Amino acid sequence: MSDFVMTIGGDSVPAGESFGVHNPATGEVFAHAPECSRTQLDAAFDSAAKAYRDWKTDEDLRRATLLRMADVLLASAGTIAPVLTAEQGKPLGDANMEVFAAAIWCQYFANLETPSQTIQDDADALVDVVRRPLGVVAAITPWNFPLTLAFWKIAPALLAGNTMVLKPSPFTPLSTLKTVELLRSVVPPGVLNVVSGGDDLGAWMTGHPVPRKITFTGSIETGKKVAQSAAPDLKRVTLELGGNDPAIVLDDADPTWVAKAIFAGAFNNNGQVCSAIKRVYVPEALYDDVVDALASHASATKVGDGTEPDTKLGPINNAPQFERVKELVADAISGGAKAVTGGHPMDRPGYFFEPTILAGLSDGTRIVDEEQFGPALPVVSYRDLDDAVERANATHFGLSGSVWGTDADRAYEVAGRLECGTAWVNTHLALAPQQPFGGFKWSGIGIENGPWGLAEFSEVQVMHRSRADDGLNISIAGLVS
Ligand code: NAD
Repeated sequence: MSDFVMTIGGDSVPAGESFGVHNPATGEVFAHAPECSRTQLDAAFDSAAKAYRDWKTDEDLRRATLLRMADVLLASAGTIAPVLTAEQGKPLGDANMEVFAAAIWCQYFANLETPSQTIQDDADALVDVVRRPLGVVAAITPWNFPLTLAFWKIAPALLAGNTMVLKPSPFTPLSTLKTVELLRSVVPPGVLNVVSGGDDLGAWMTGHPVPRKITFTGSIETGKKVAQSAAPDLKRVTLELGGNDPAIVLDDADPTWVAKAIFAGAFNNNGQVCSAIKRVYVPEALYDDVVDALASHASATKVGDGTEPDTKLGPINNAPQFERVKELVADAISGGAKAVTGGHPMDRPGYFFEPTILAGLSDGTRIVDEEQFGPALPVVSYRDLDDAVERANATHFGLSGSVWGTDADRAYEVAGRLECGTAWVNTHLALAPQQPFGGFKWSGIGIENGPWGLAEFSEVQVMHRSRADDGLNISIAGLVS
């Protein structure tokens, strides 16, 4: 695969330098991505700032463009998805789903009403509260869902009237570069620019004087750096960060049923999902049954190259993440945990790790307390439900969580006690463009999706038209009269 270019001002920008992108199924470099220079980054922000002048004035064009973008995406899945599988590792079917999700997000926001409210309409004044775009947005994305997560940003930001410079992860830049290149046919020049490079490029973006907003998805560690970098300039920030989602199984749950659904919620995208289930709390009486059922799903799952049709789980995306999963599993086992199934890297090239179910461990073990972000799931037993809820909440993470039981009302009540942005009952990872998504505590600041996500790409403006004869209707007077 070759010919991946940055898009700046609607044009291909030749790379002075480039960096290698690995296929995680082989561990080998299979293509190169342009390394954006500082001058090129300046040019990208400059073109976004110029395009903003017209883009912000034409809401009809913005809506029409988003619909055209969806059409291009749907027509291009066959081109984009193989690139995504090659750089990310996920099965081709899942890569196609990412492209479709990107299209669905464009369609949803194309049709979402932009809020505006009249709060006073009387003899004294007409007062409207409207939303205005922020300007240029810098968007930075991670490697687990490069396209889906980019469009969680692109679609609302563009609808709100902003323009954008987007930077994908250096582990997965190619599908984003290719997608934005294909979108040039329908997006006015400068509205959506894409640059590629390493982590330094992200830091240049957050410290750059042009963008008025940083929208970031990635790790907590980097998110804190982004917040610091945005602070001196009071840039607006949305941070979608890491999670360590608990799933709490209640004592009336059916072990076979919950194990199947929890396995799906934990091992989706090979466990590399911010809001995947990352630790399971099970009552002692059900513990062995749930662990055994989870292990049988794990051992029956076909792991392989994402291009093979029967592959359900691909490799871990990159070498550092592969090492991290190895380290956390080895740490748990050396501390006395049992790998009921899995526990090791697979004996083949690439970053393949056996789907792993860990039992006989508790809070205080690193893989329970930290975000593993890979195909290894710790299962912890509990005796007292209140204690389980407390342990589930005893963390800096707060992205999402789930509660599982036959009495759904009781499960709903318990789920309401979880300190997290999304609390699911008898499901996990149910996400939709209209459903707000964000984290409590260190899992994030701000919201993506739905009207709440759209609002994050705008500022409130009060439009106050006086109807007083003398123009002196100071509002506090209206309140006290
Ligand atoms: P990461 O923080 O290492 O990198 C994310 C992006 O930030 C990359 O594009 C990277 O190049 C860039 N970056 C790195 N240093 C930077 C800096 N100093 N300034 C600006 N940008 C910088 O994260 P990752 O390893 O790519 O992704 C995995 C993490 O993302 C996990 O913790 C996962 O939970 C989290 N995540 C969160 C969500 C969510 O919506 N909450 C979704 C997906 C992933």
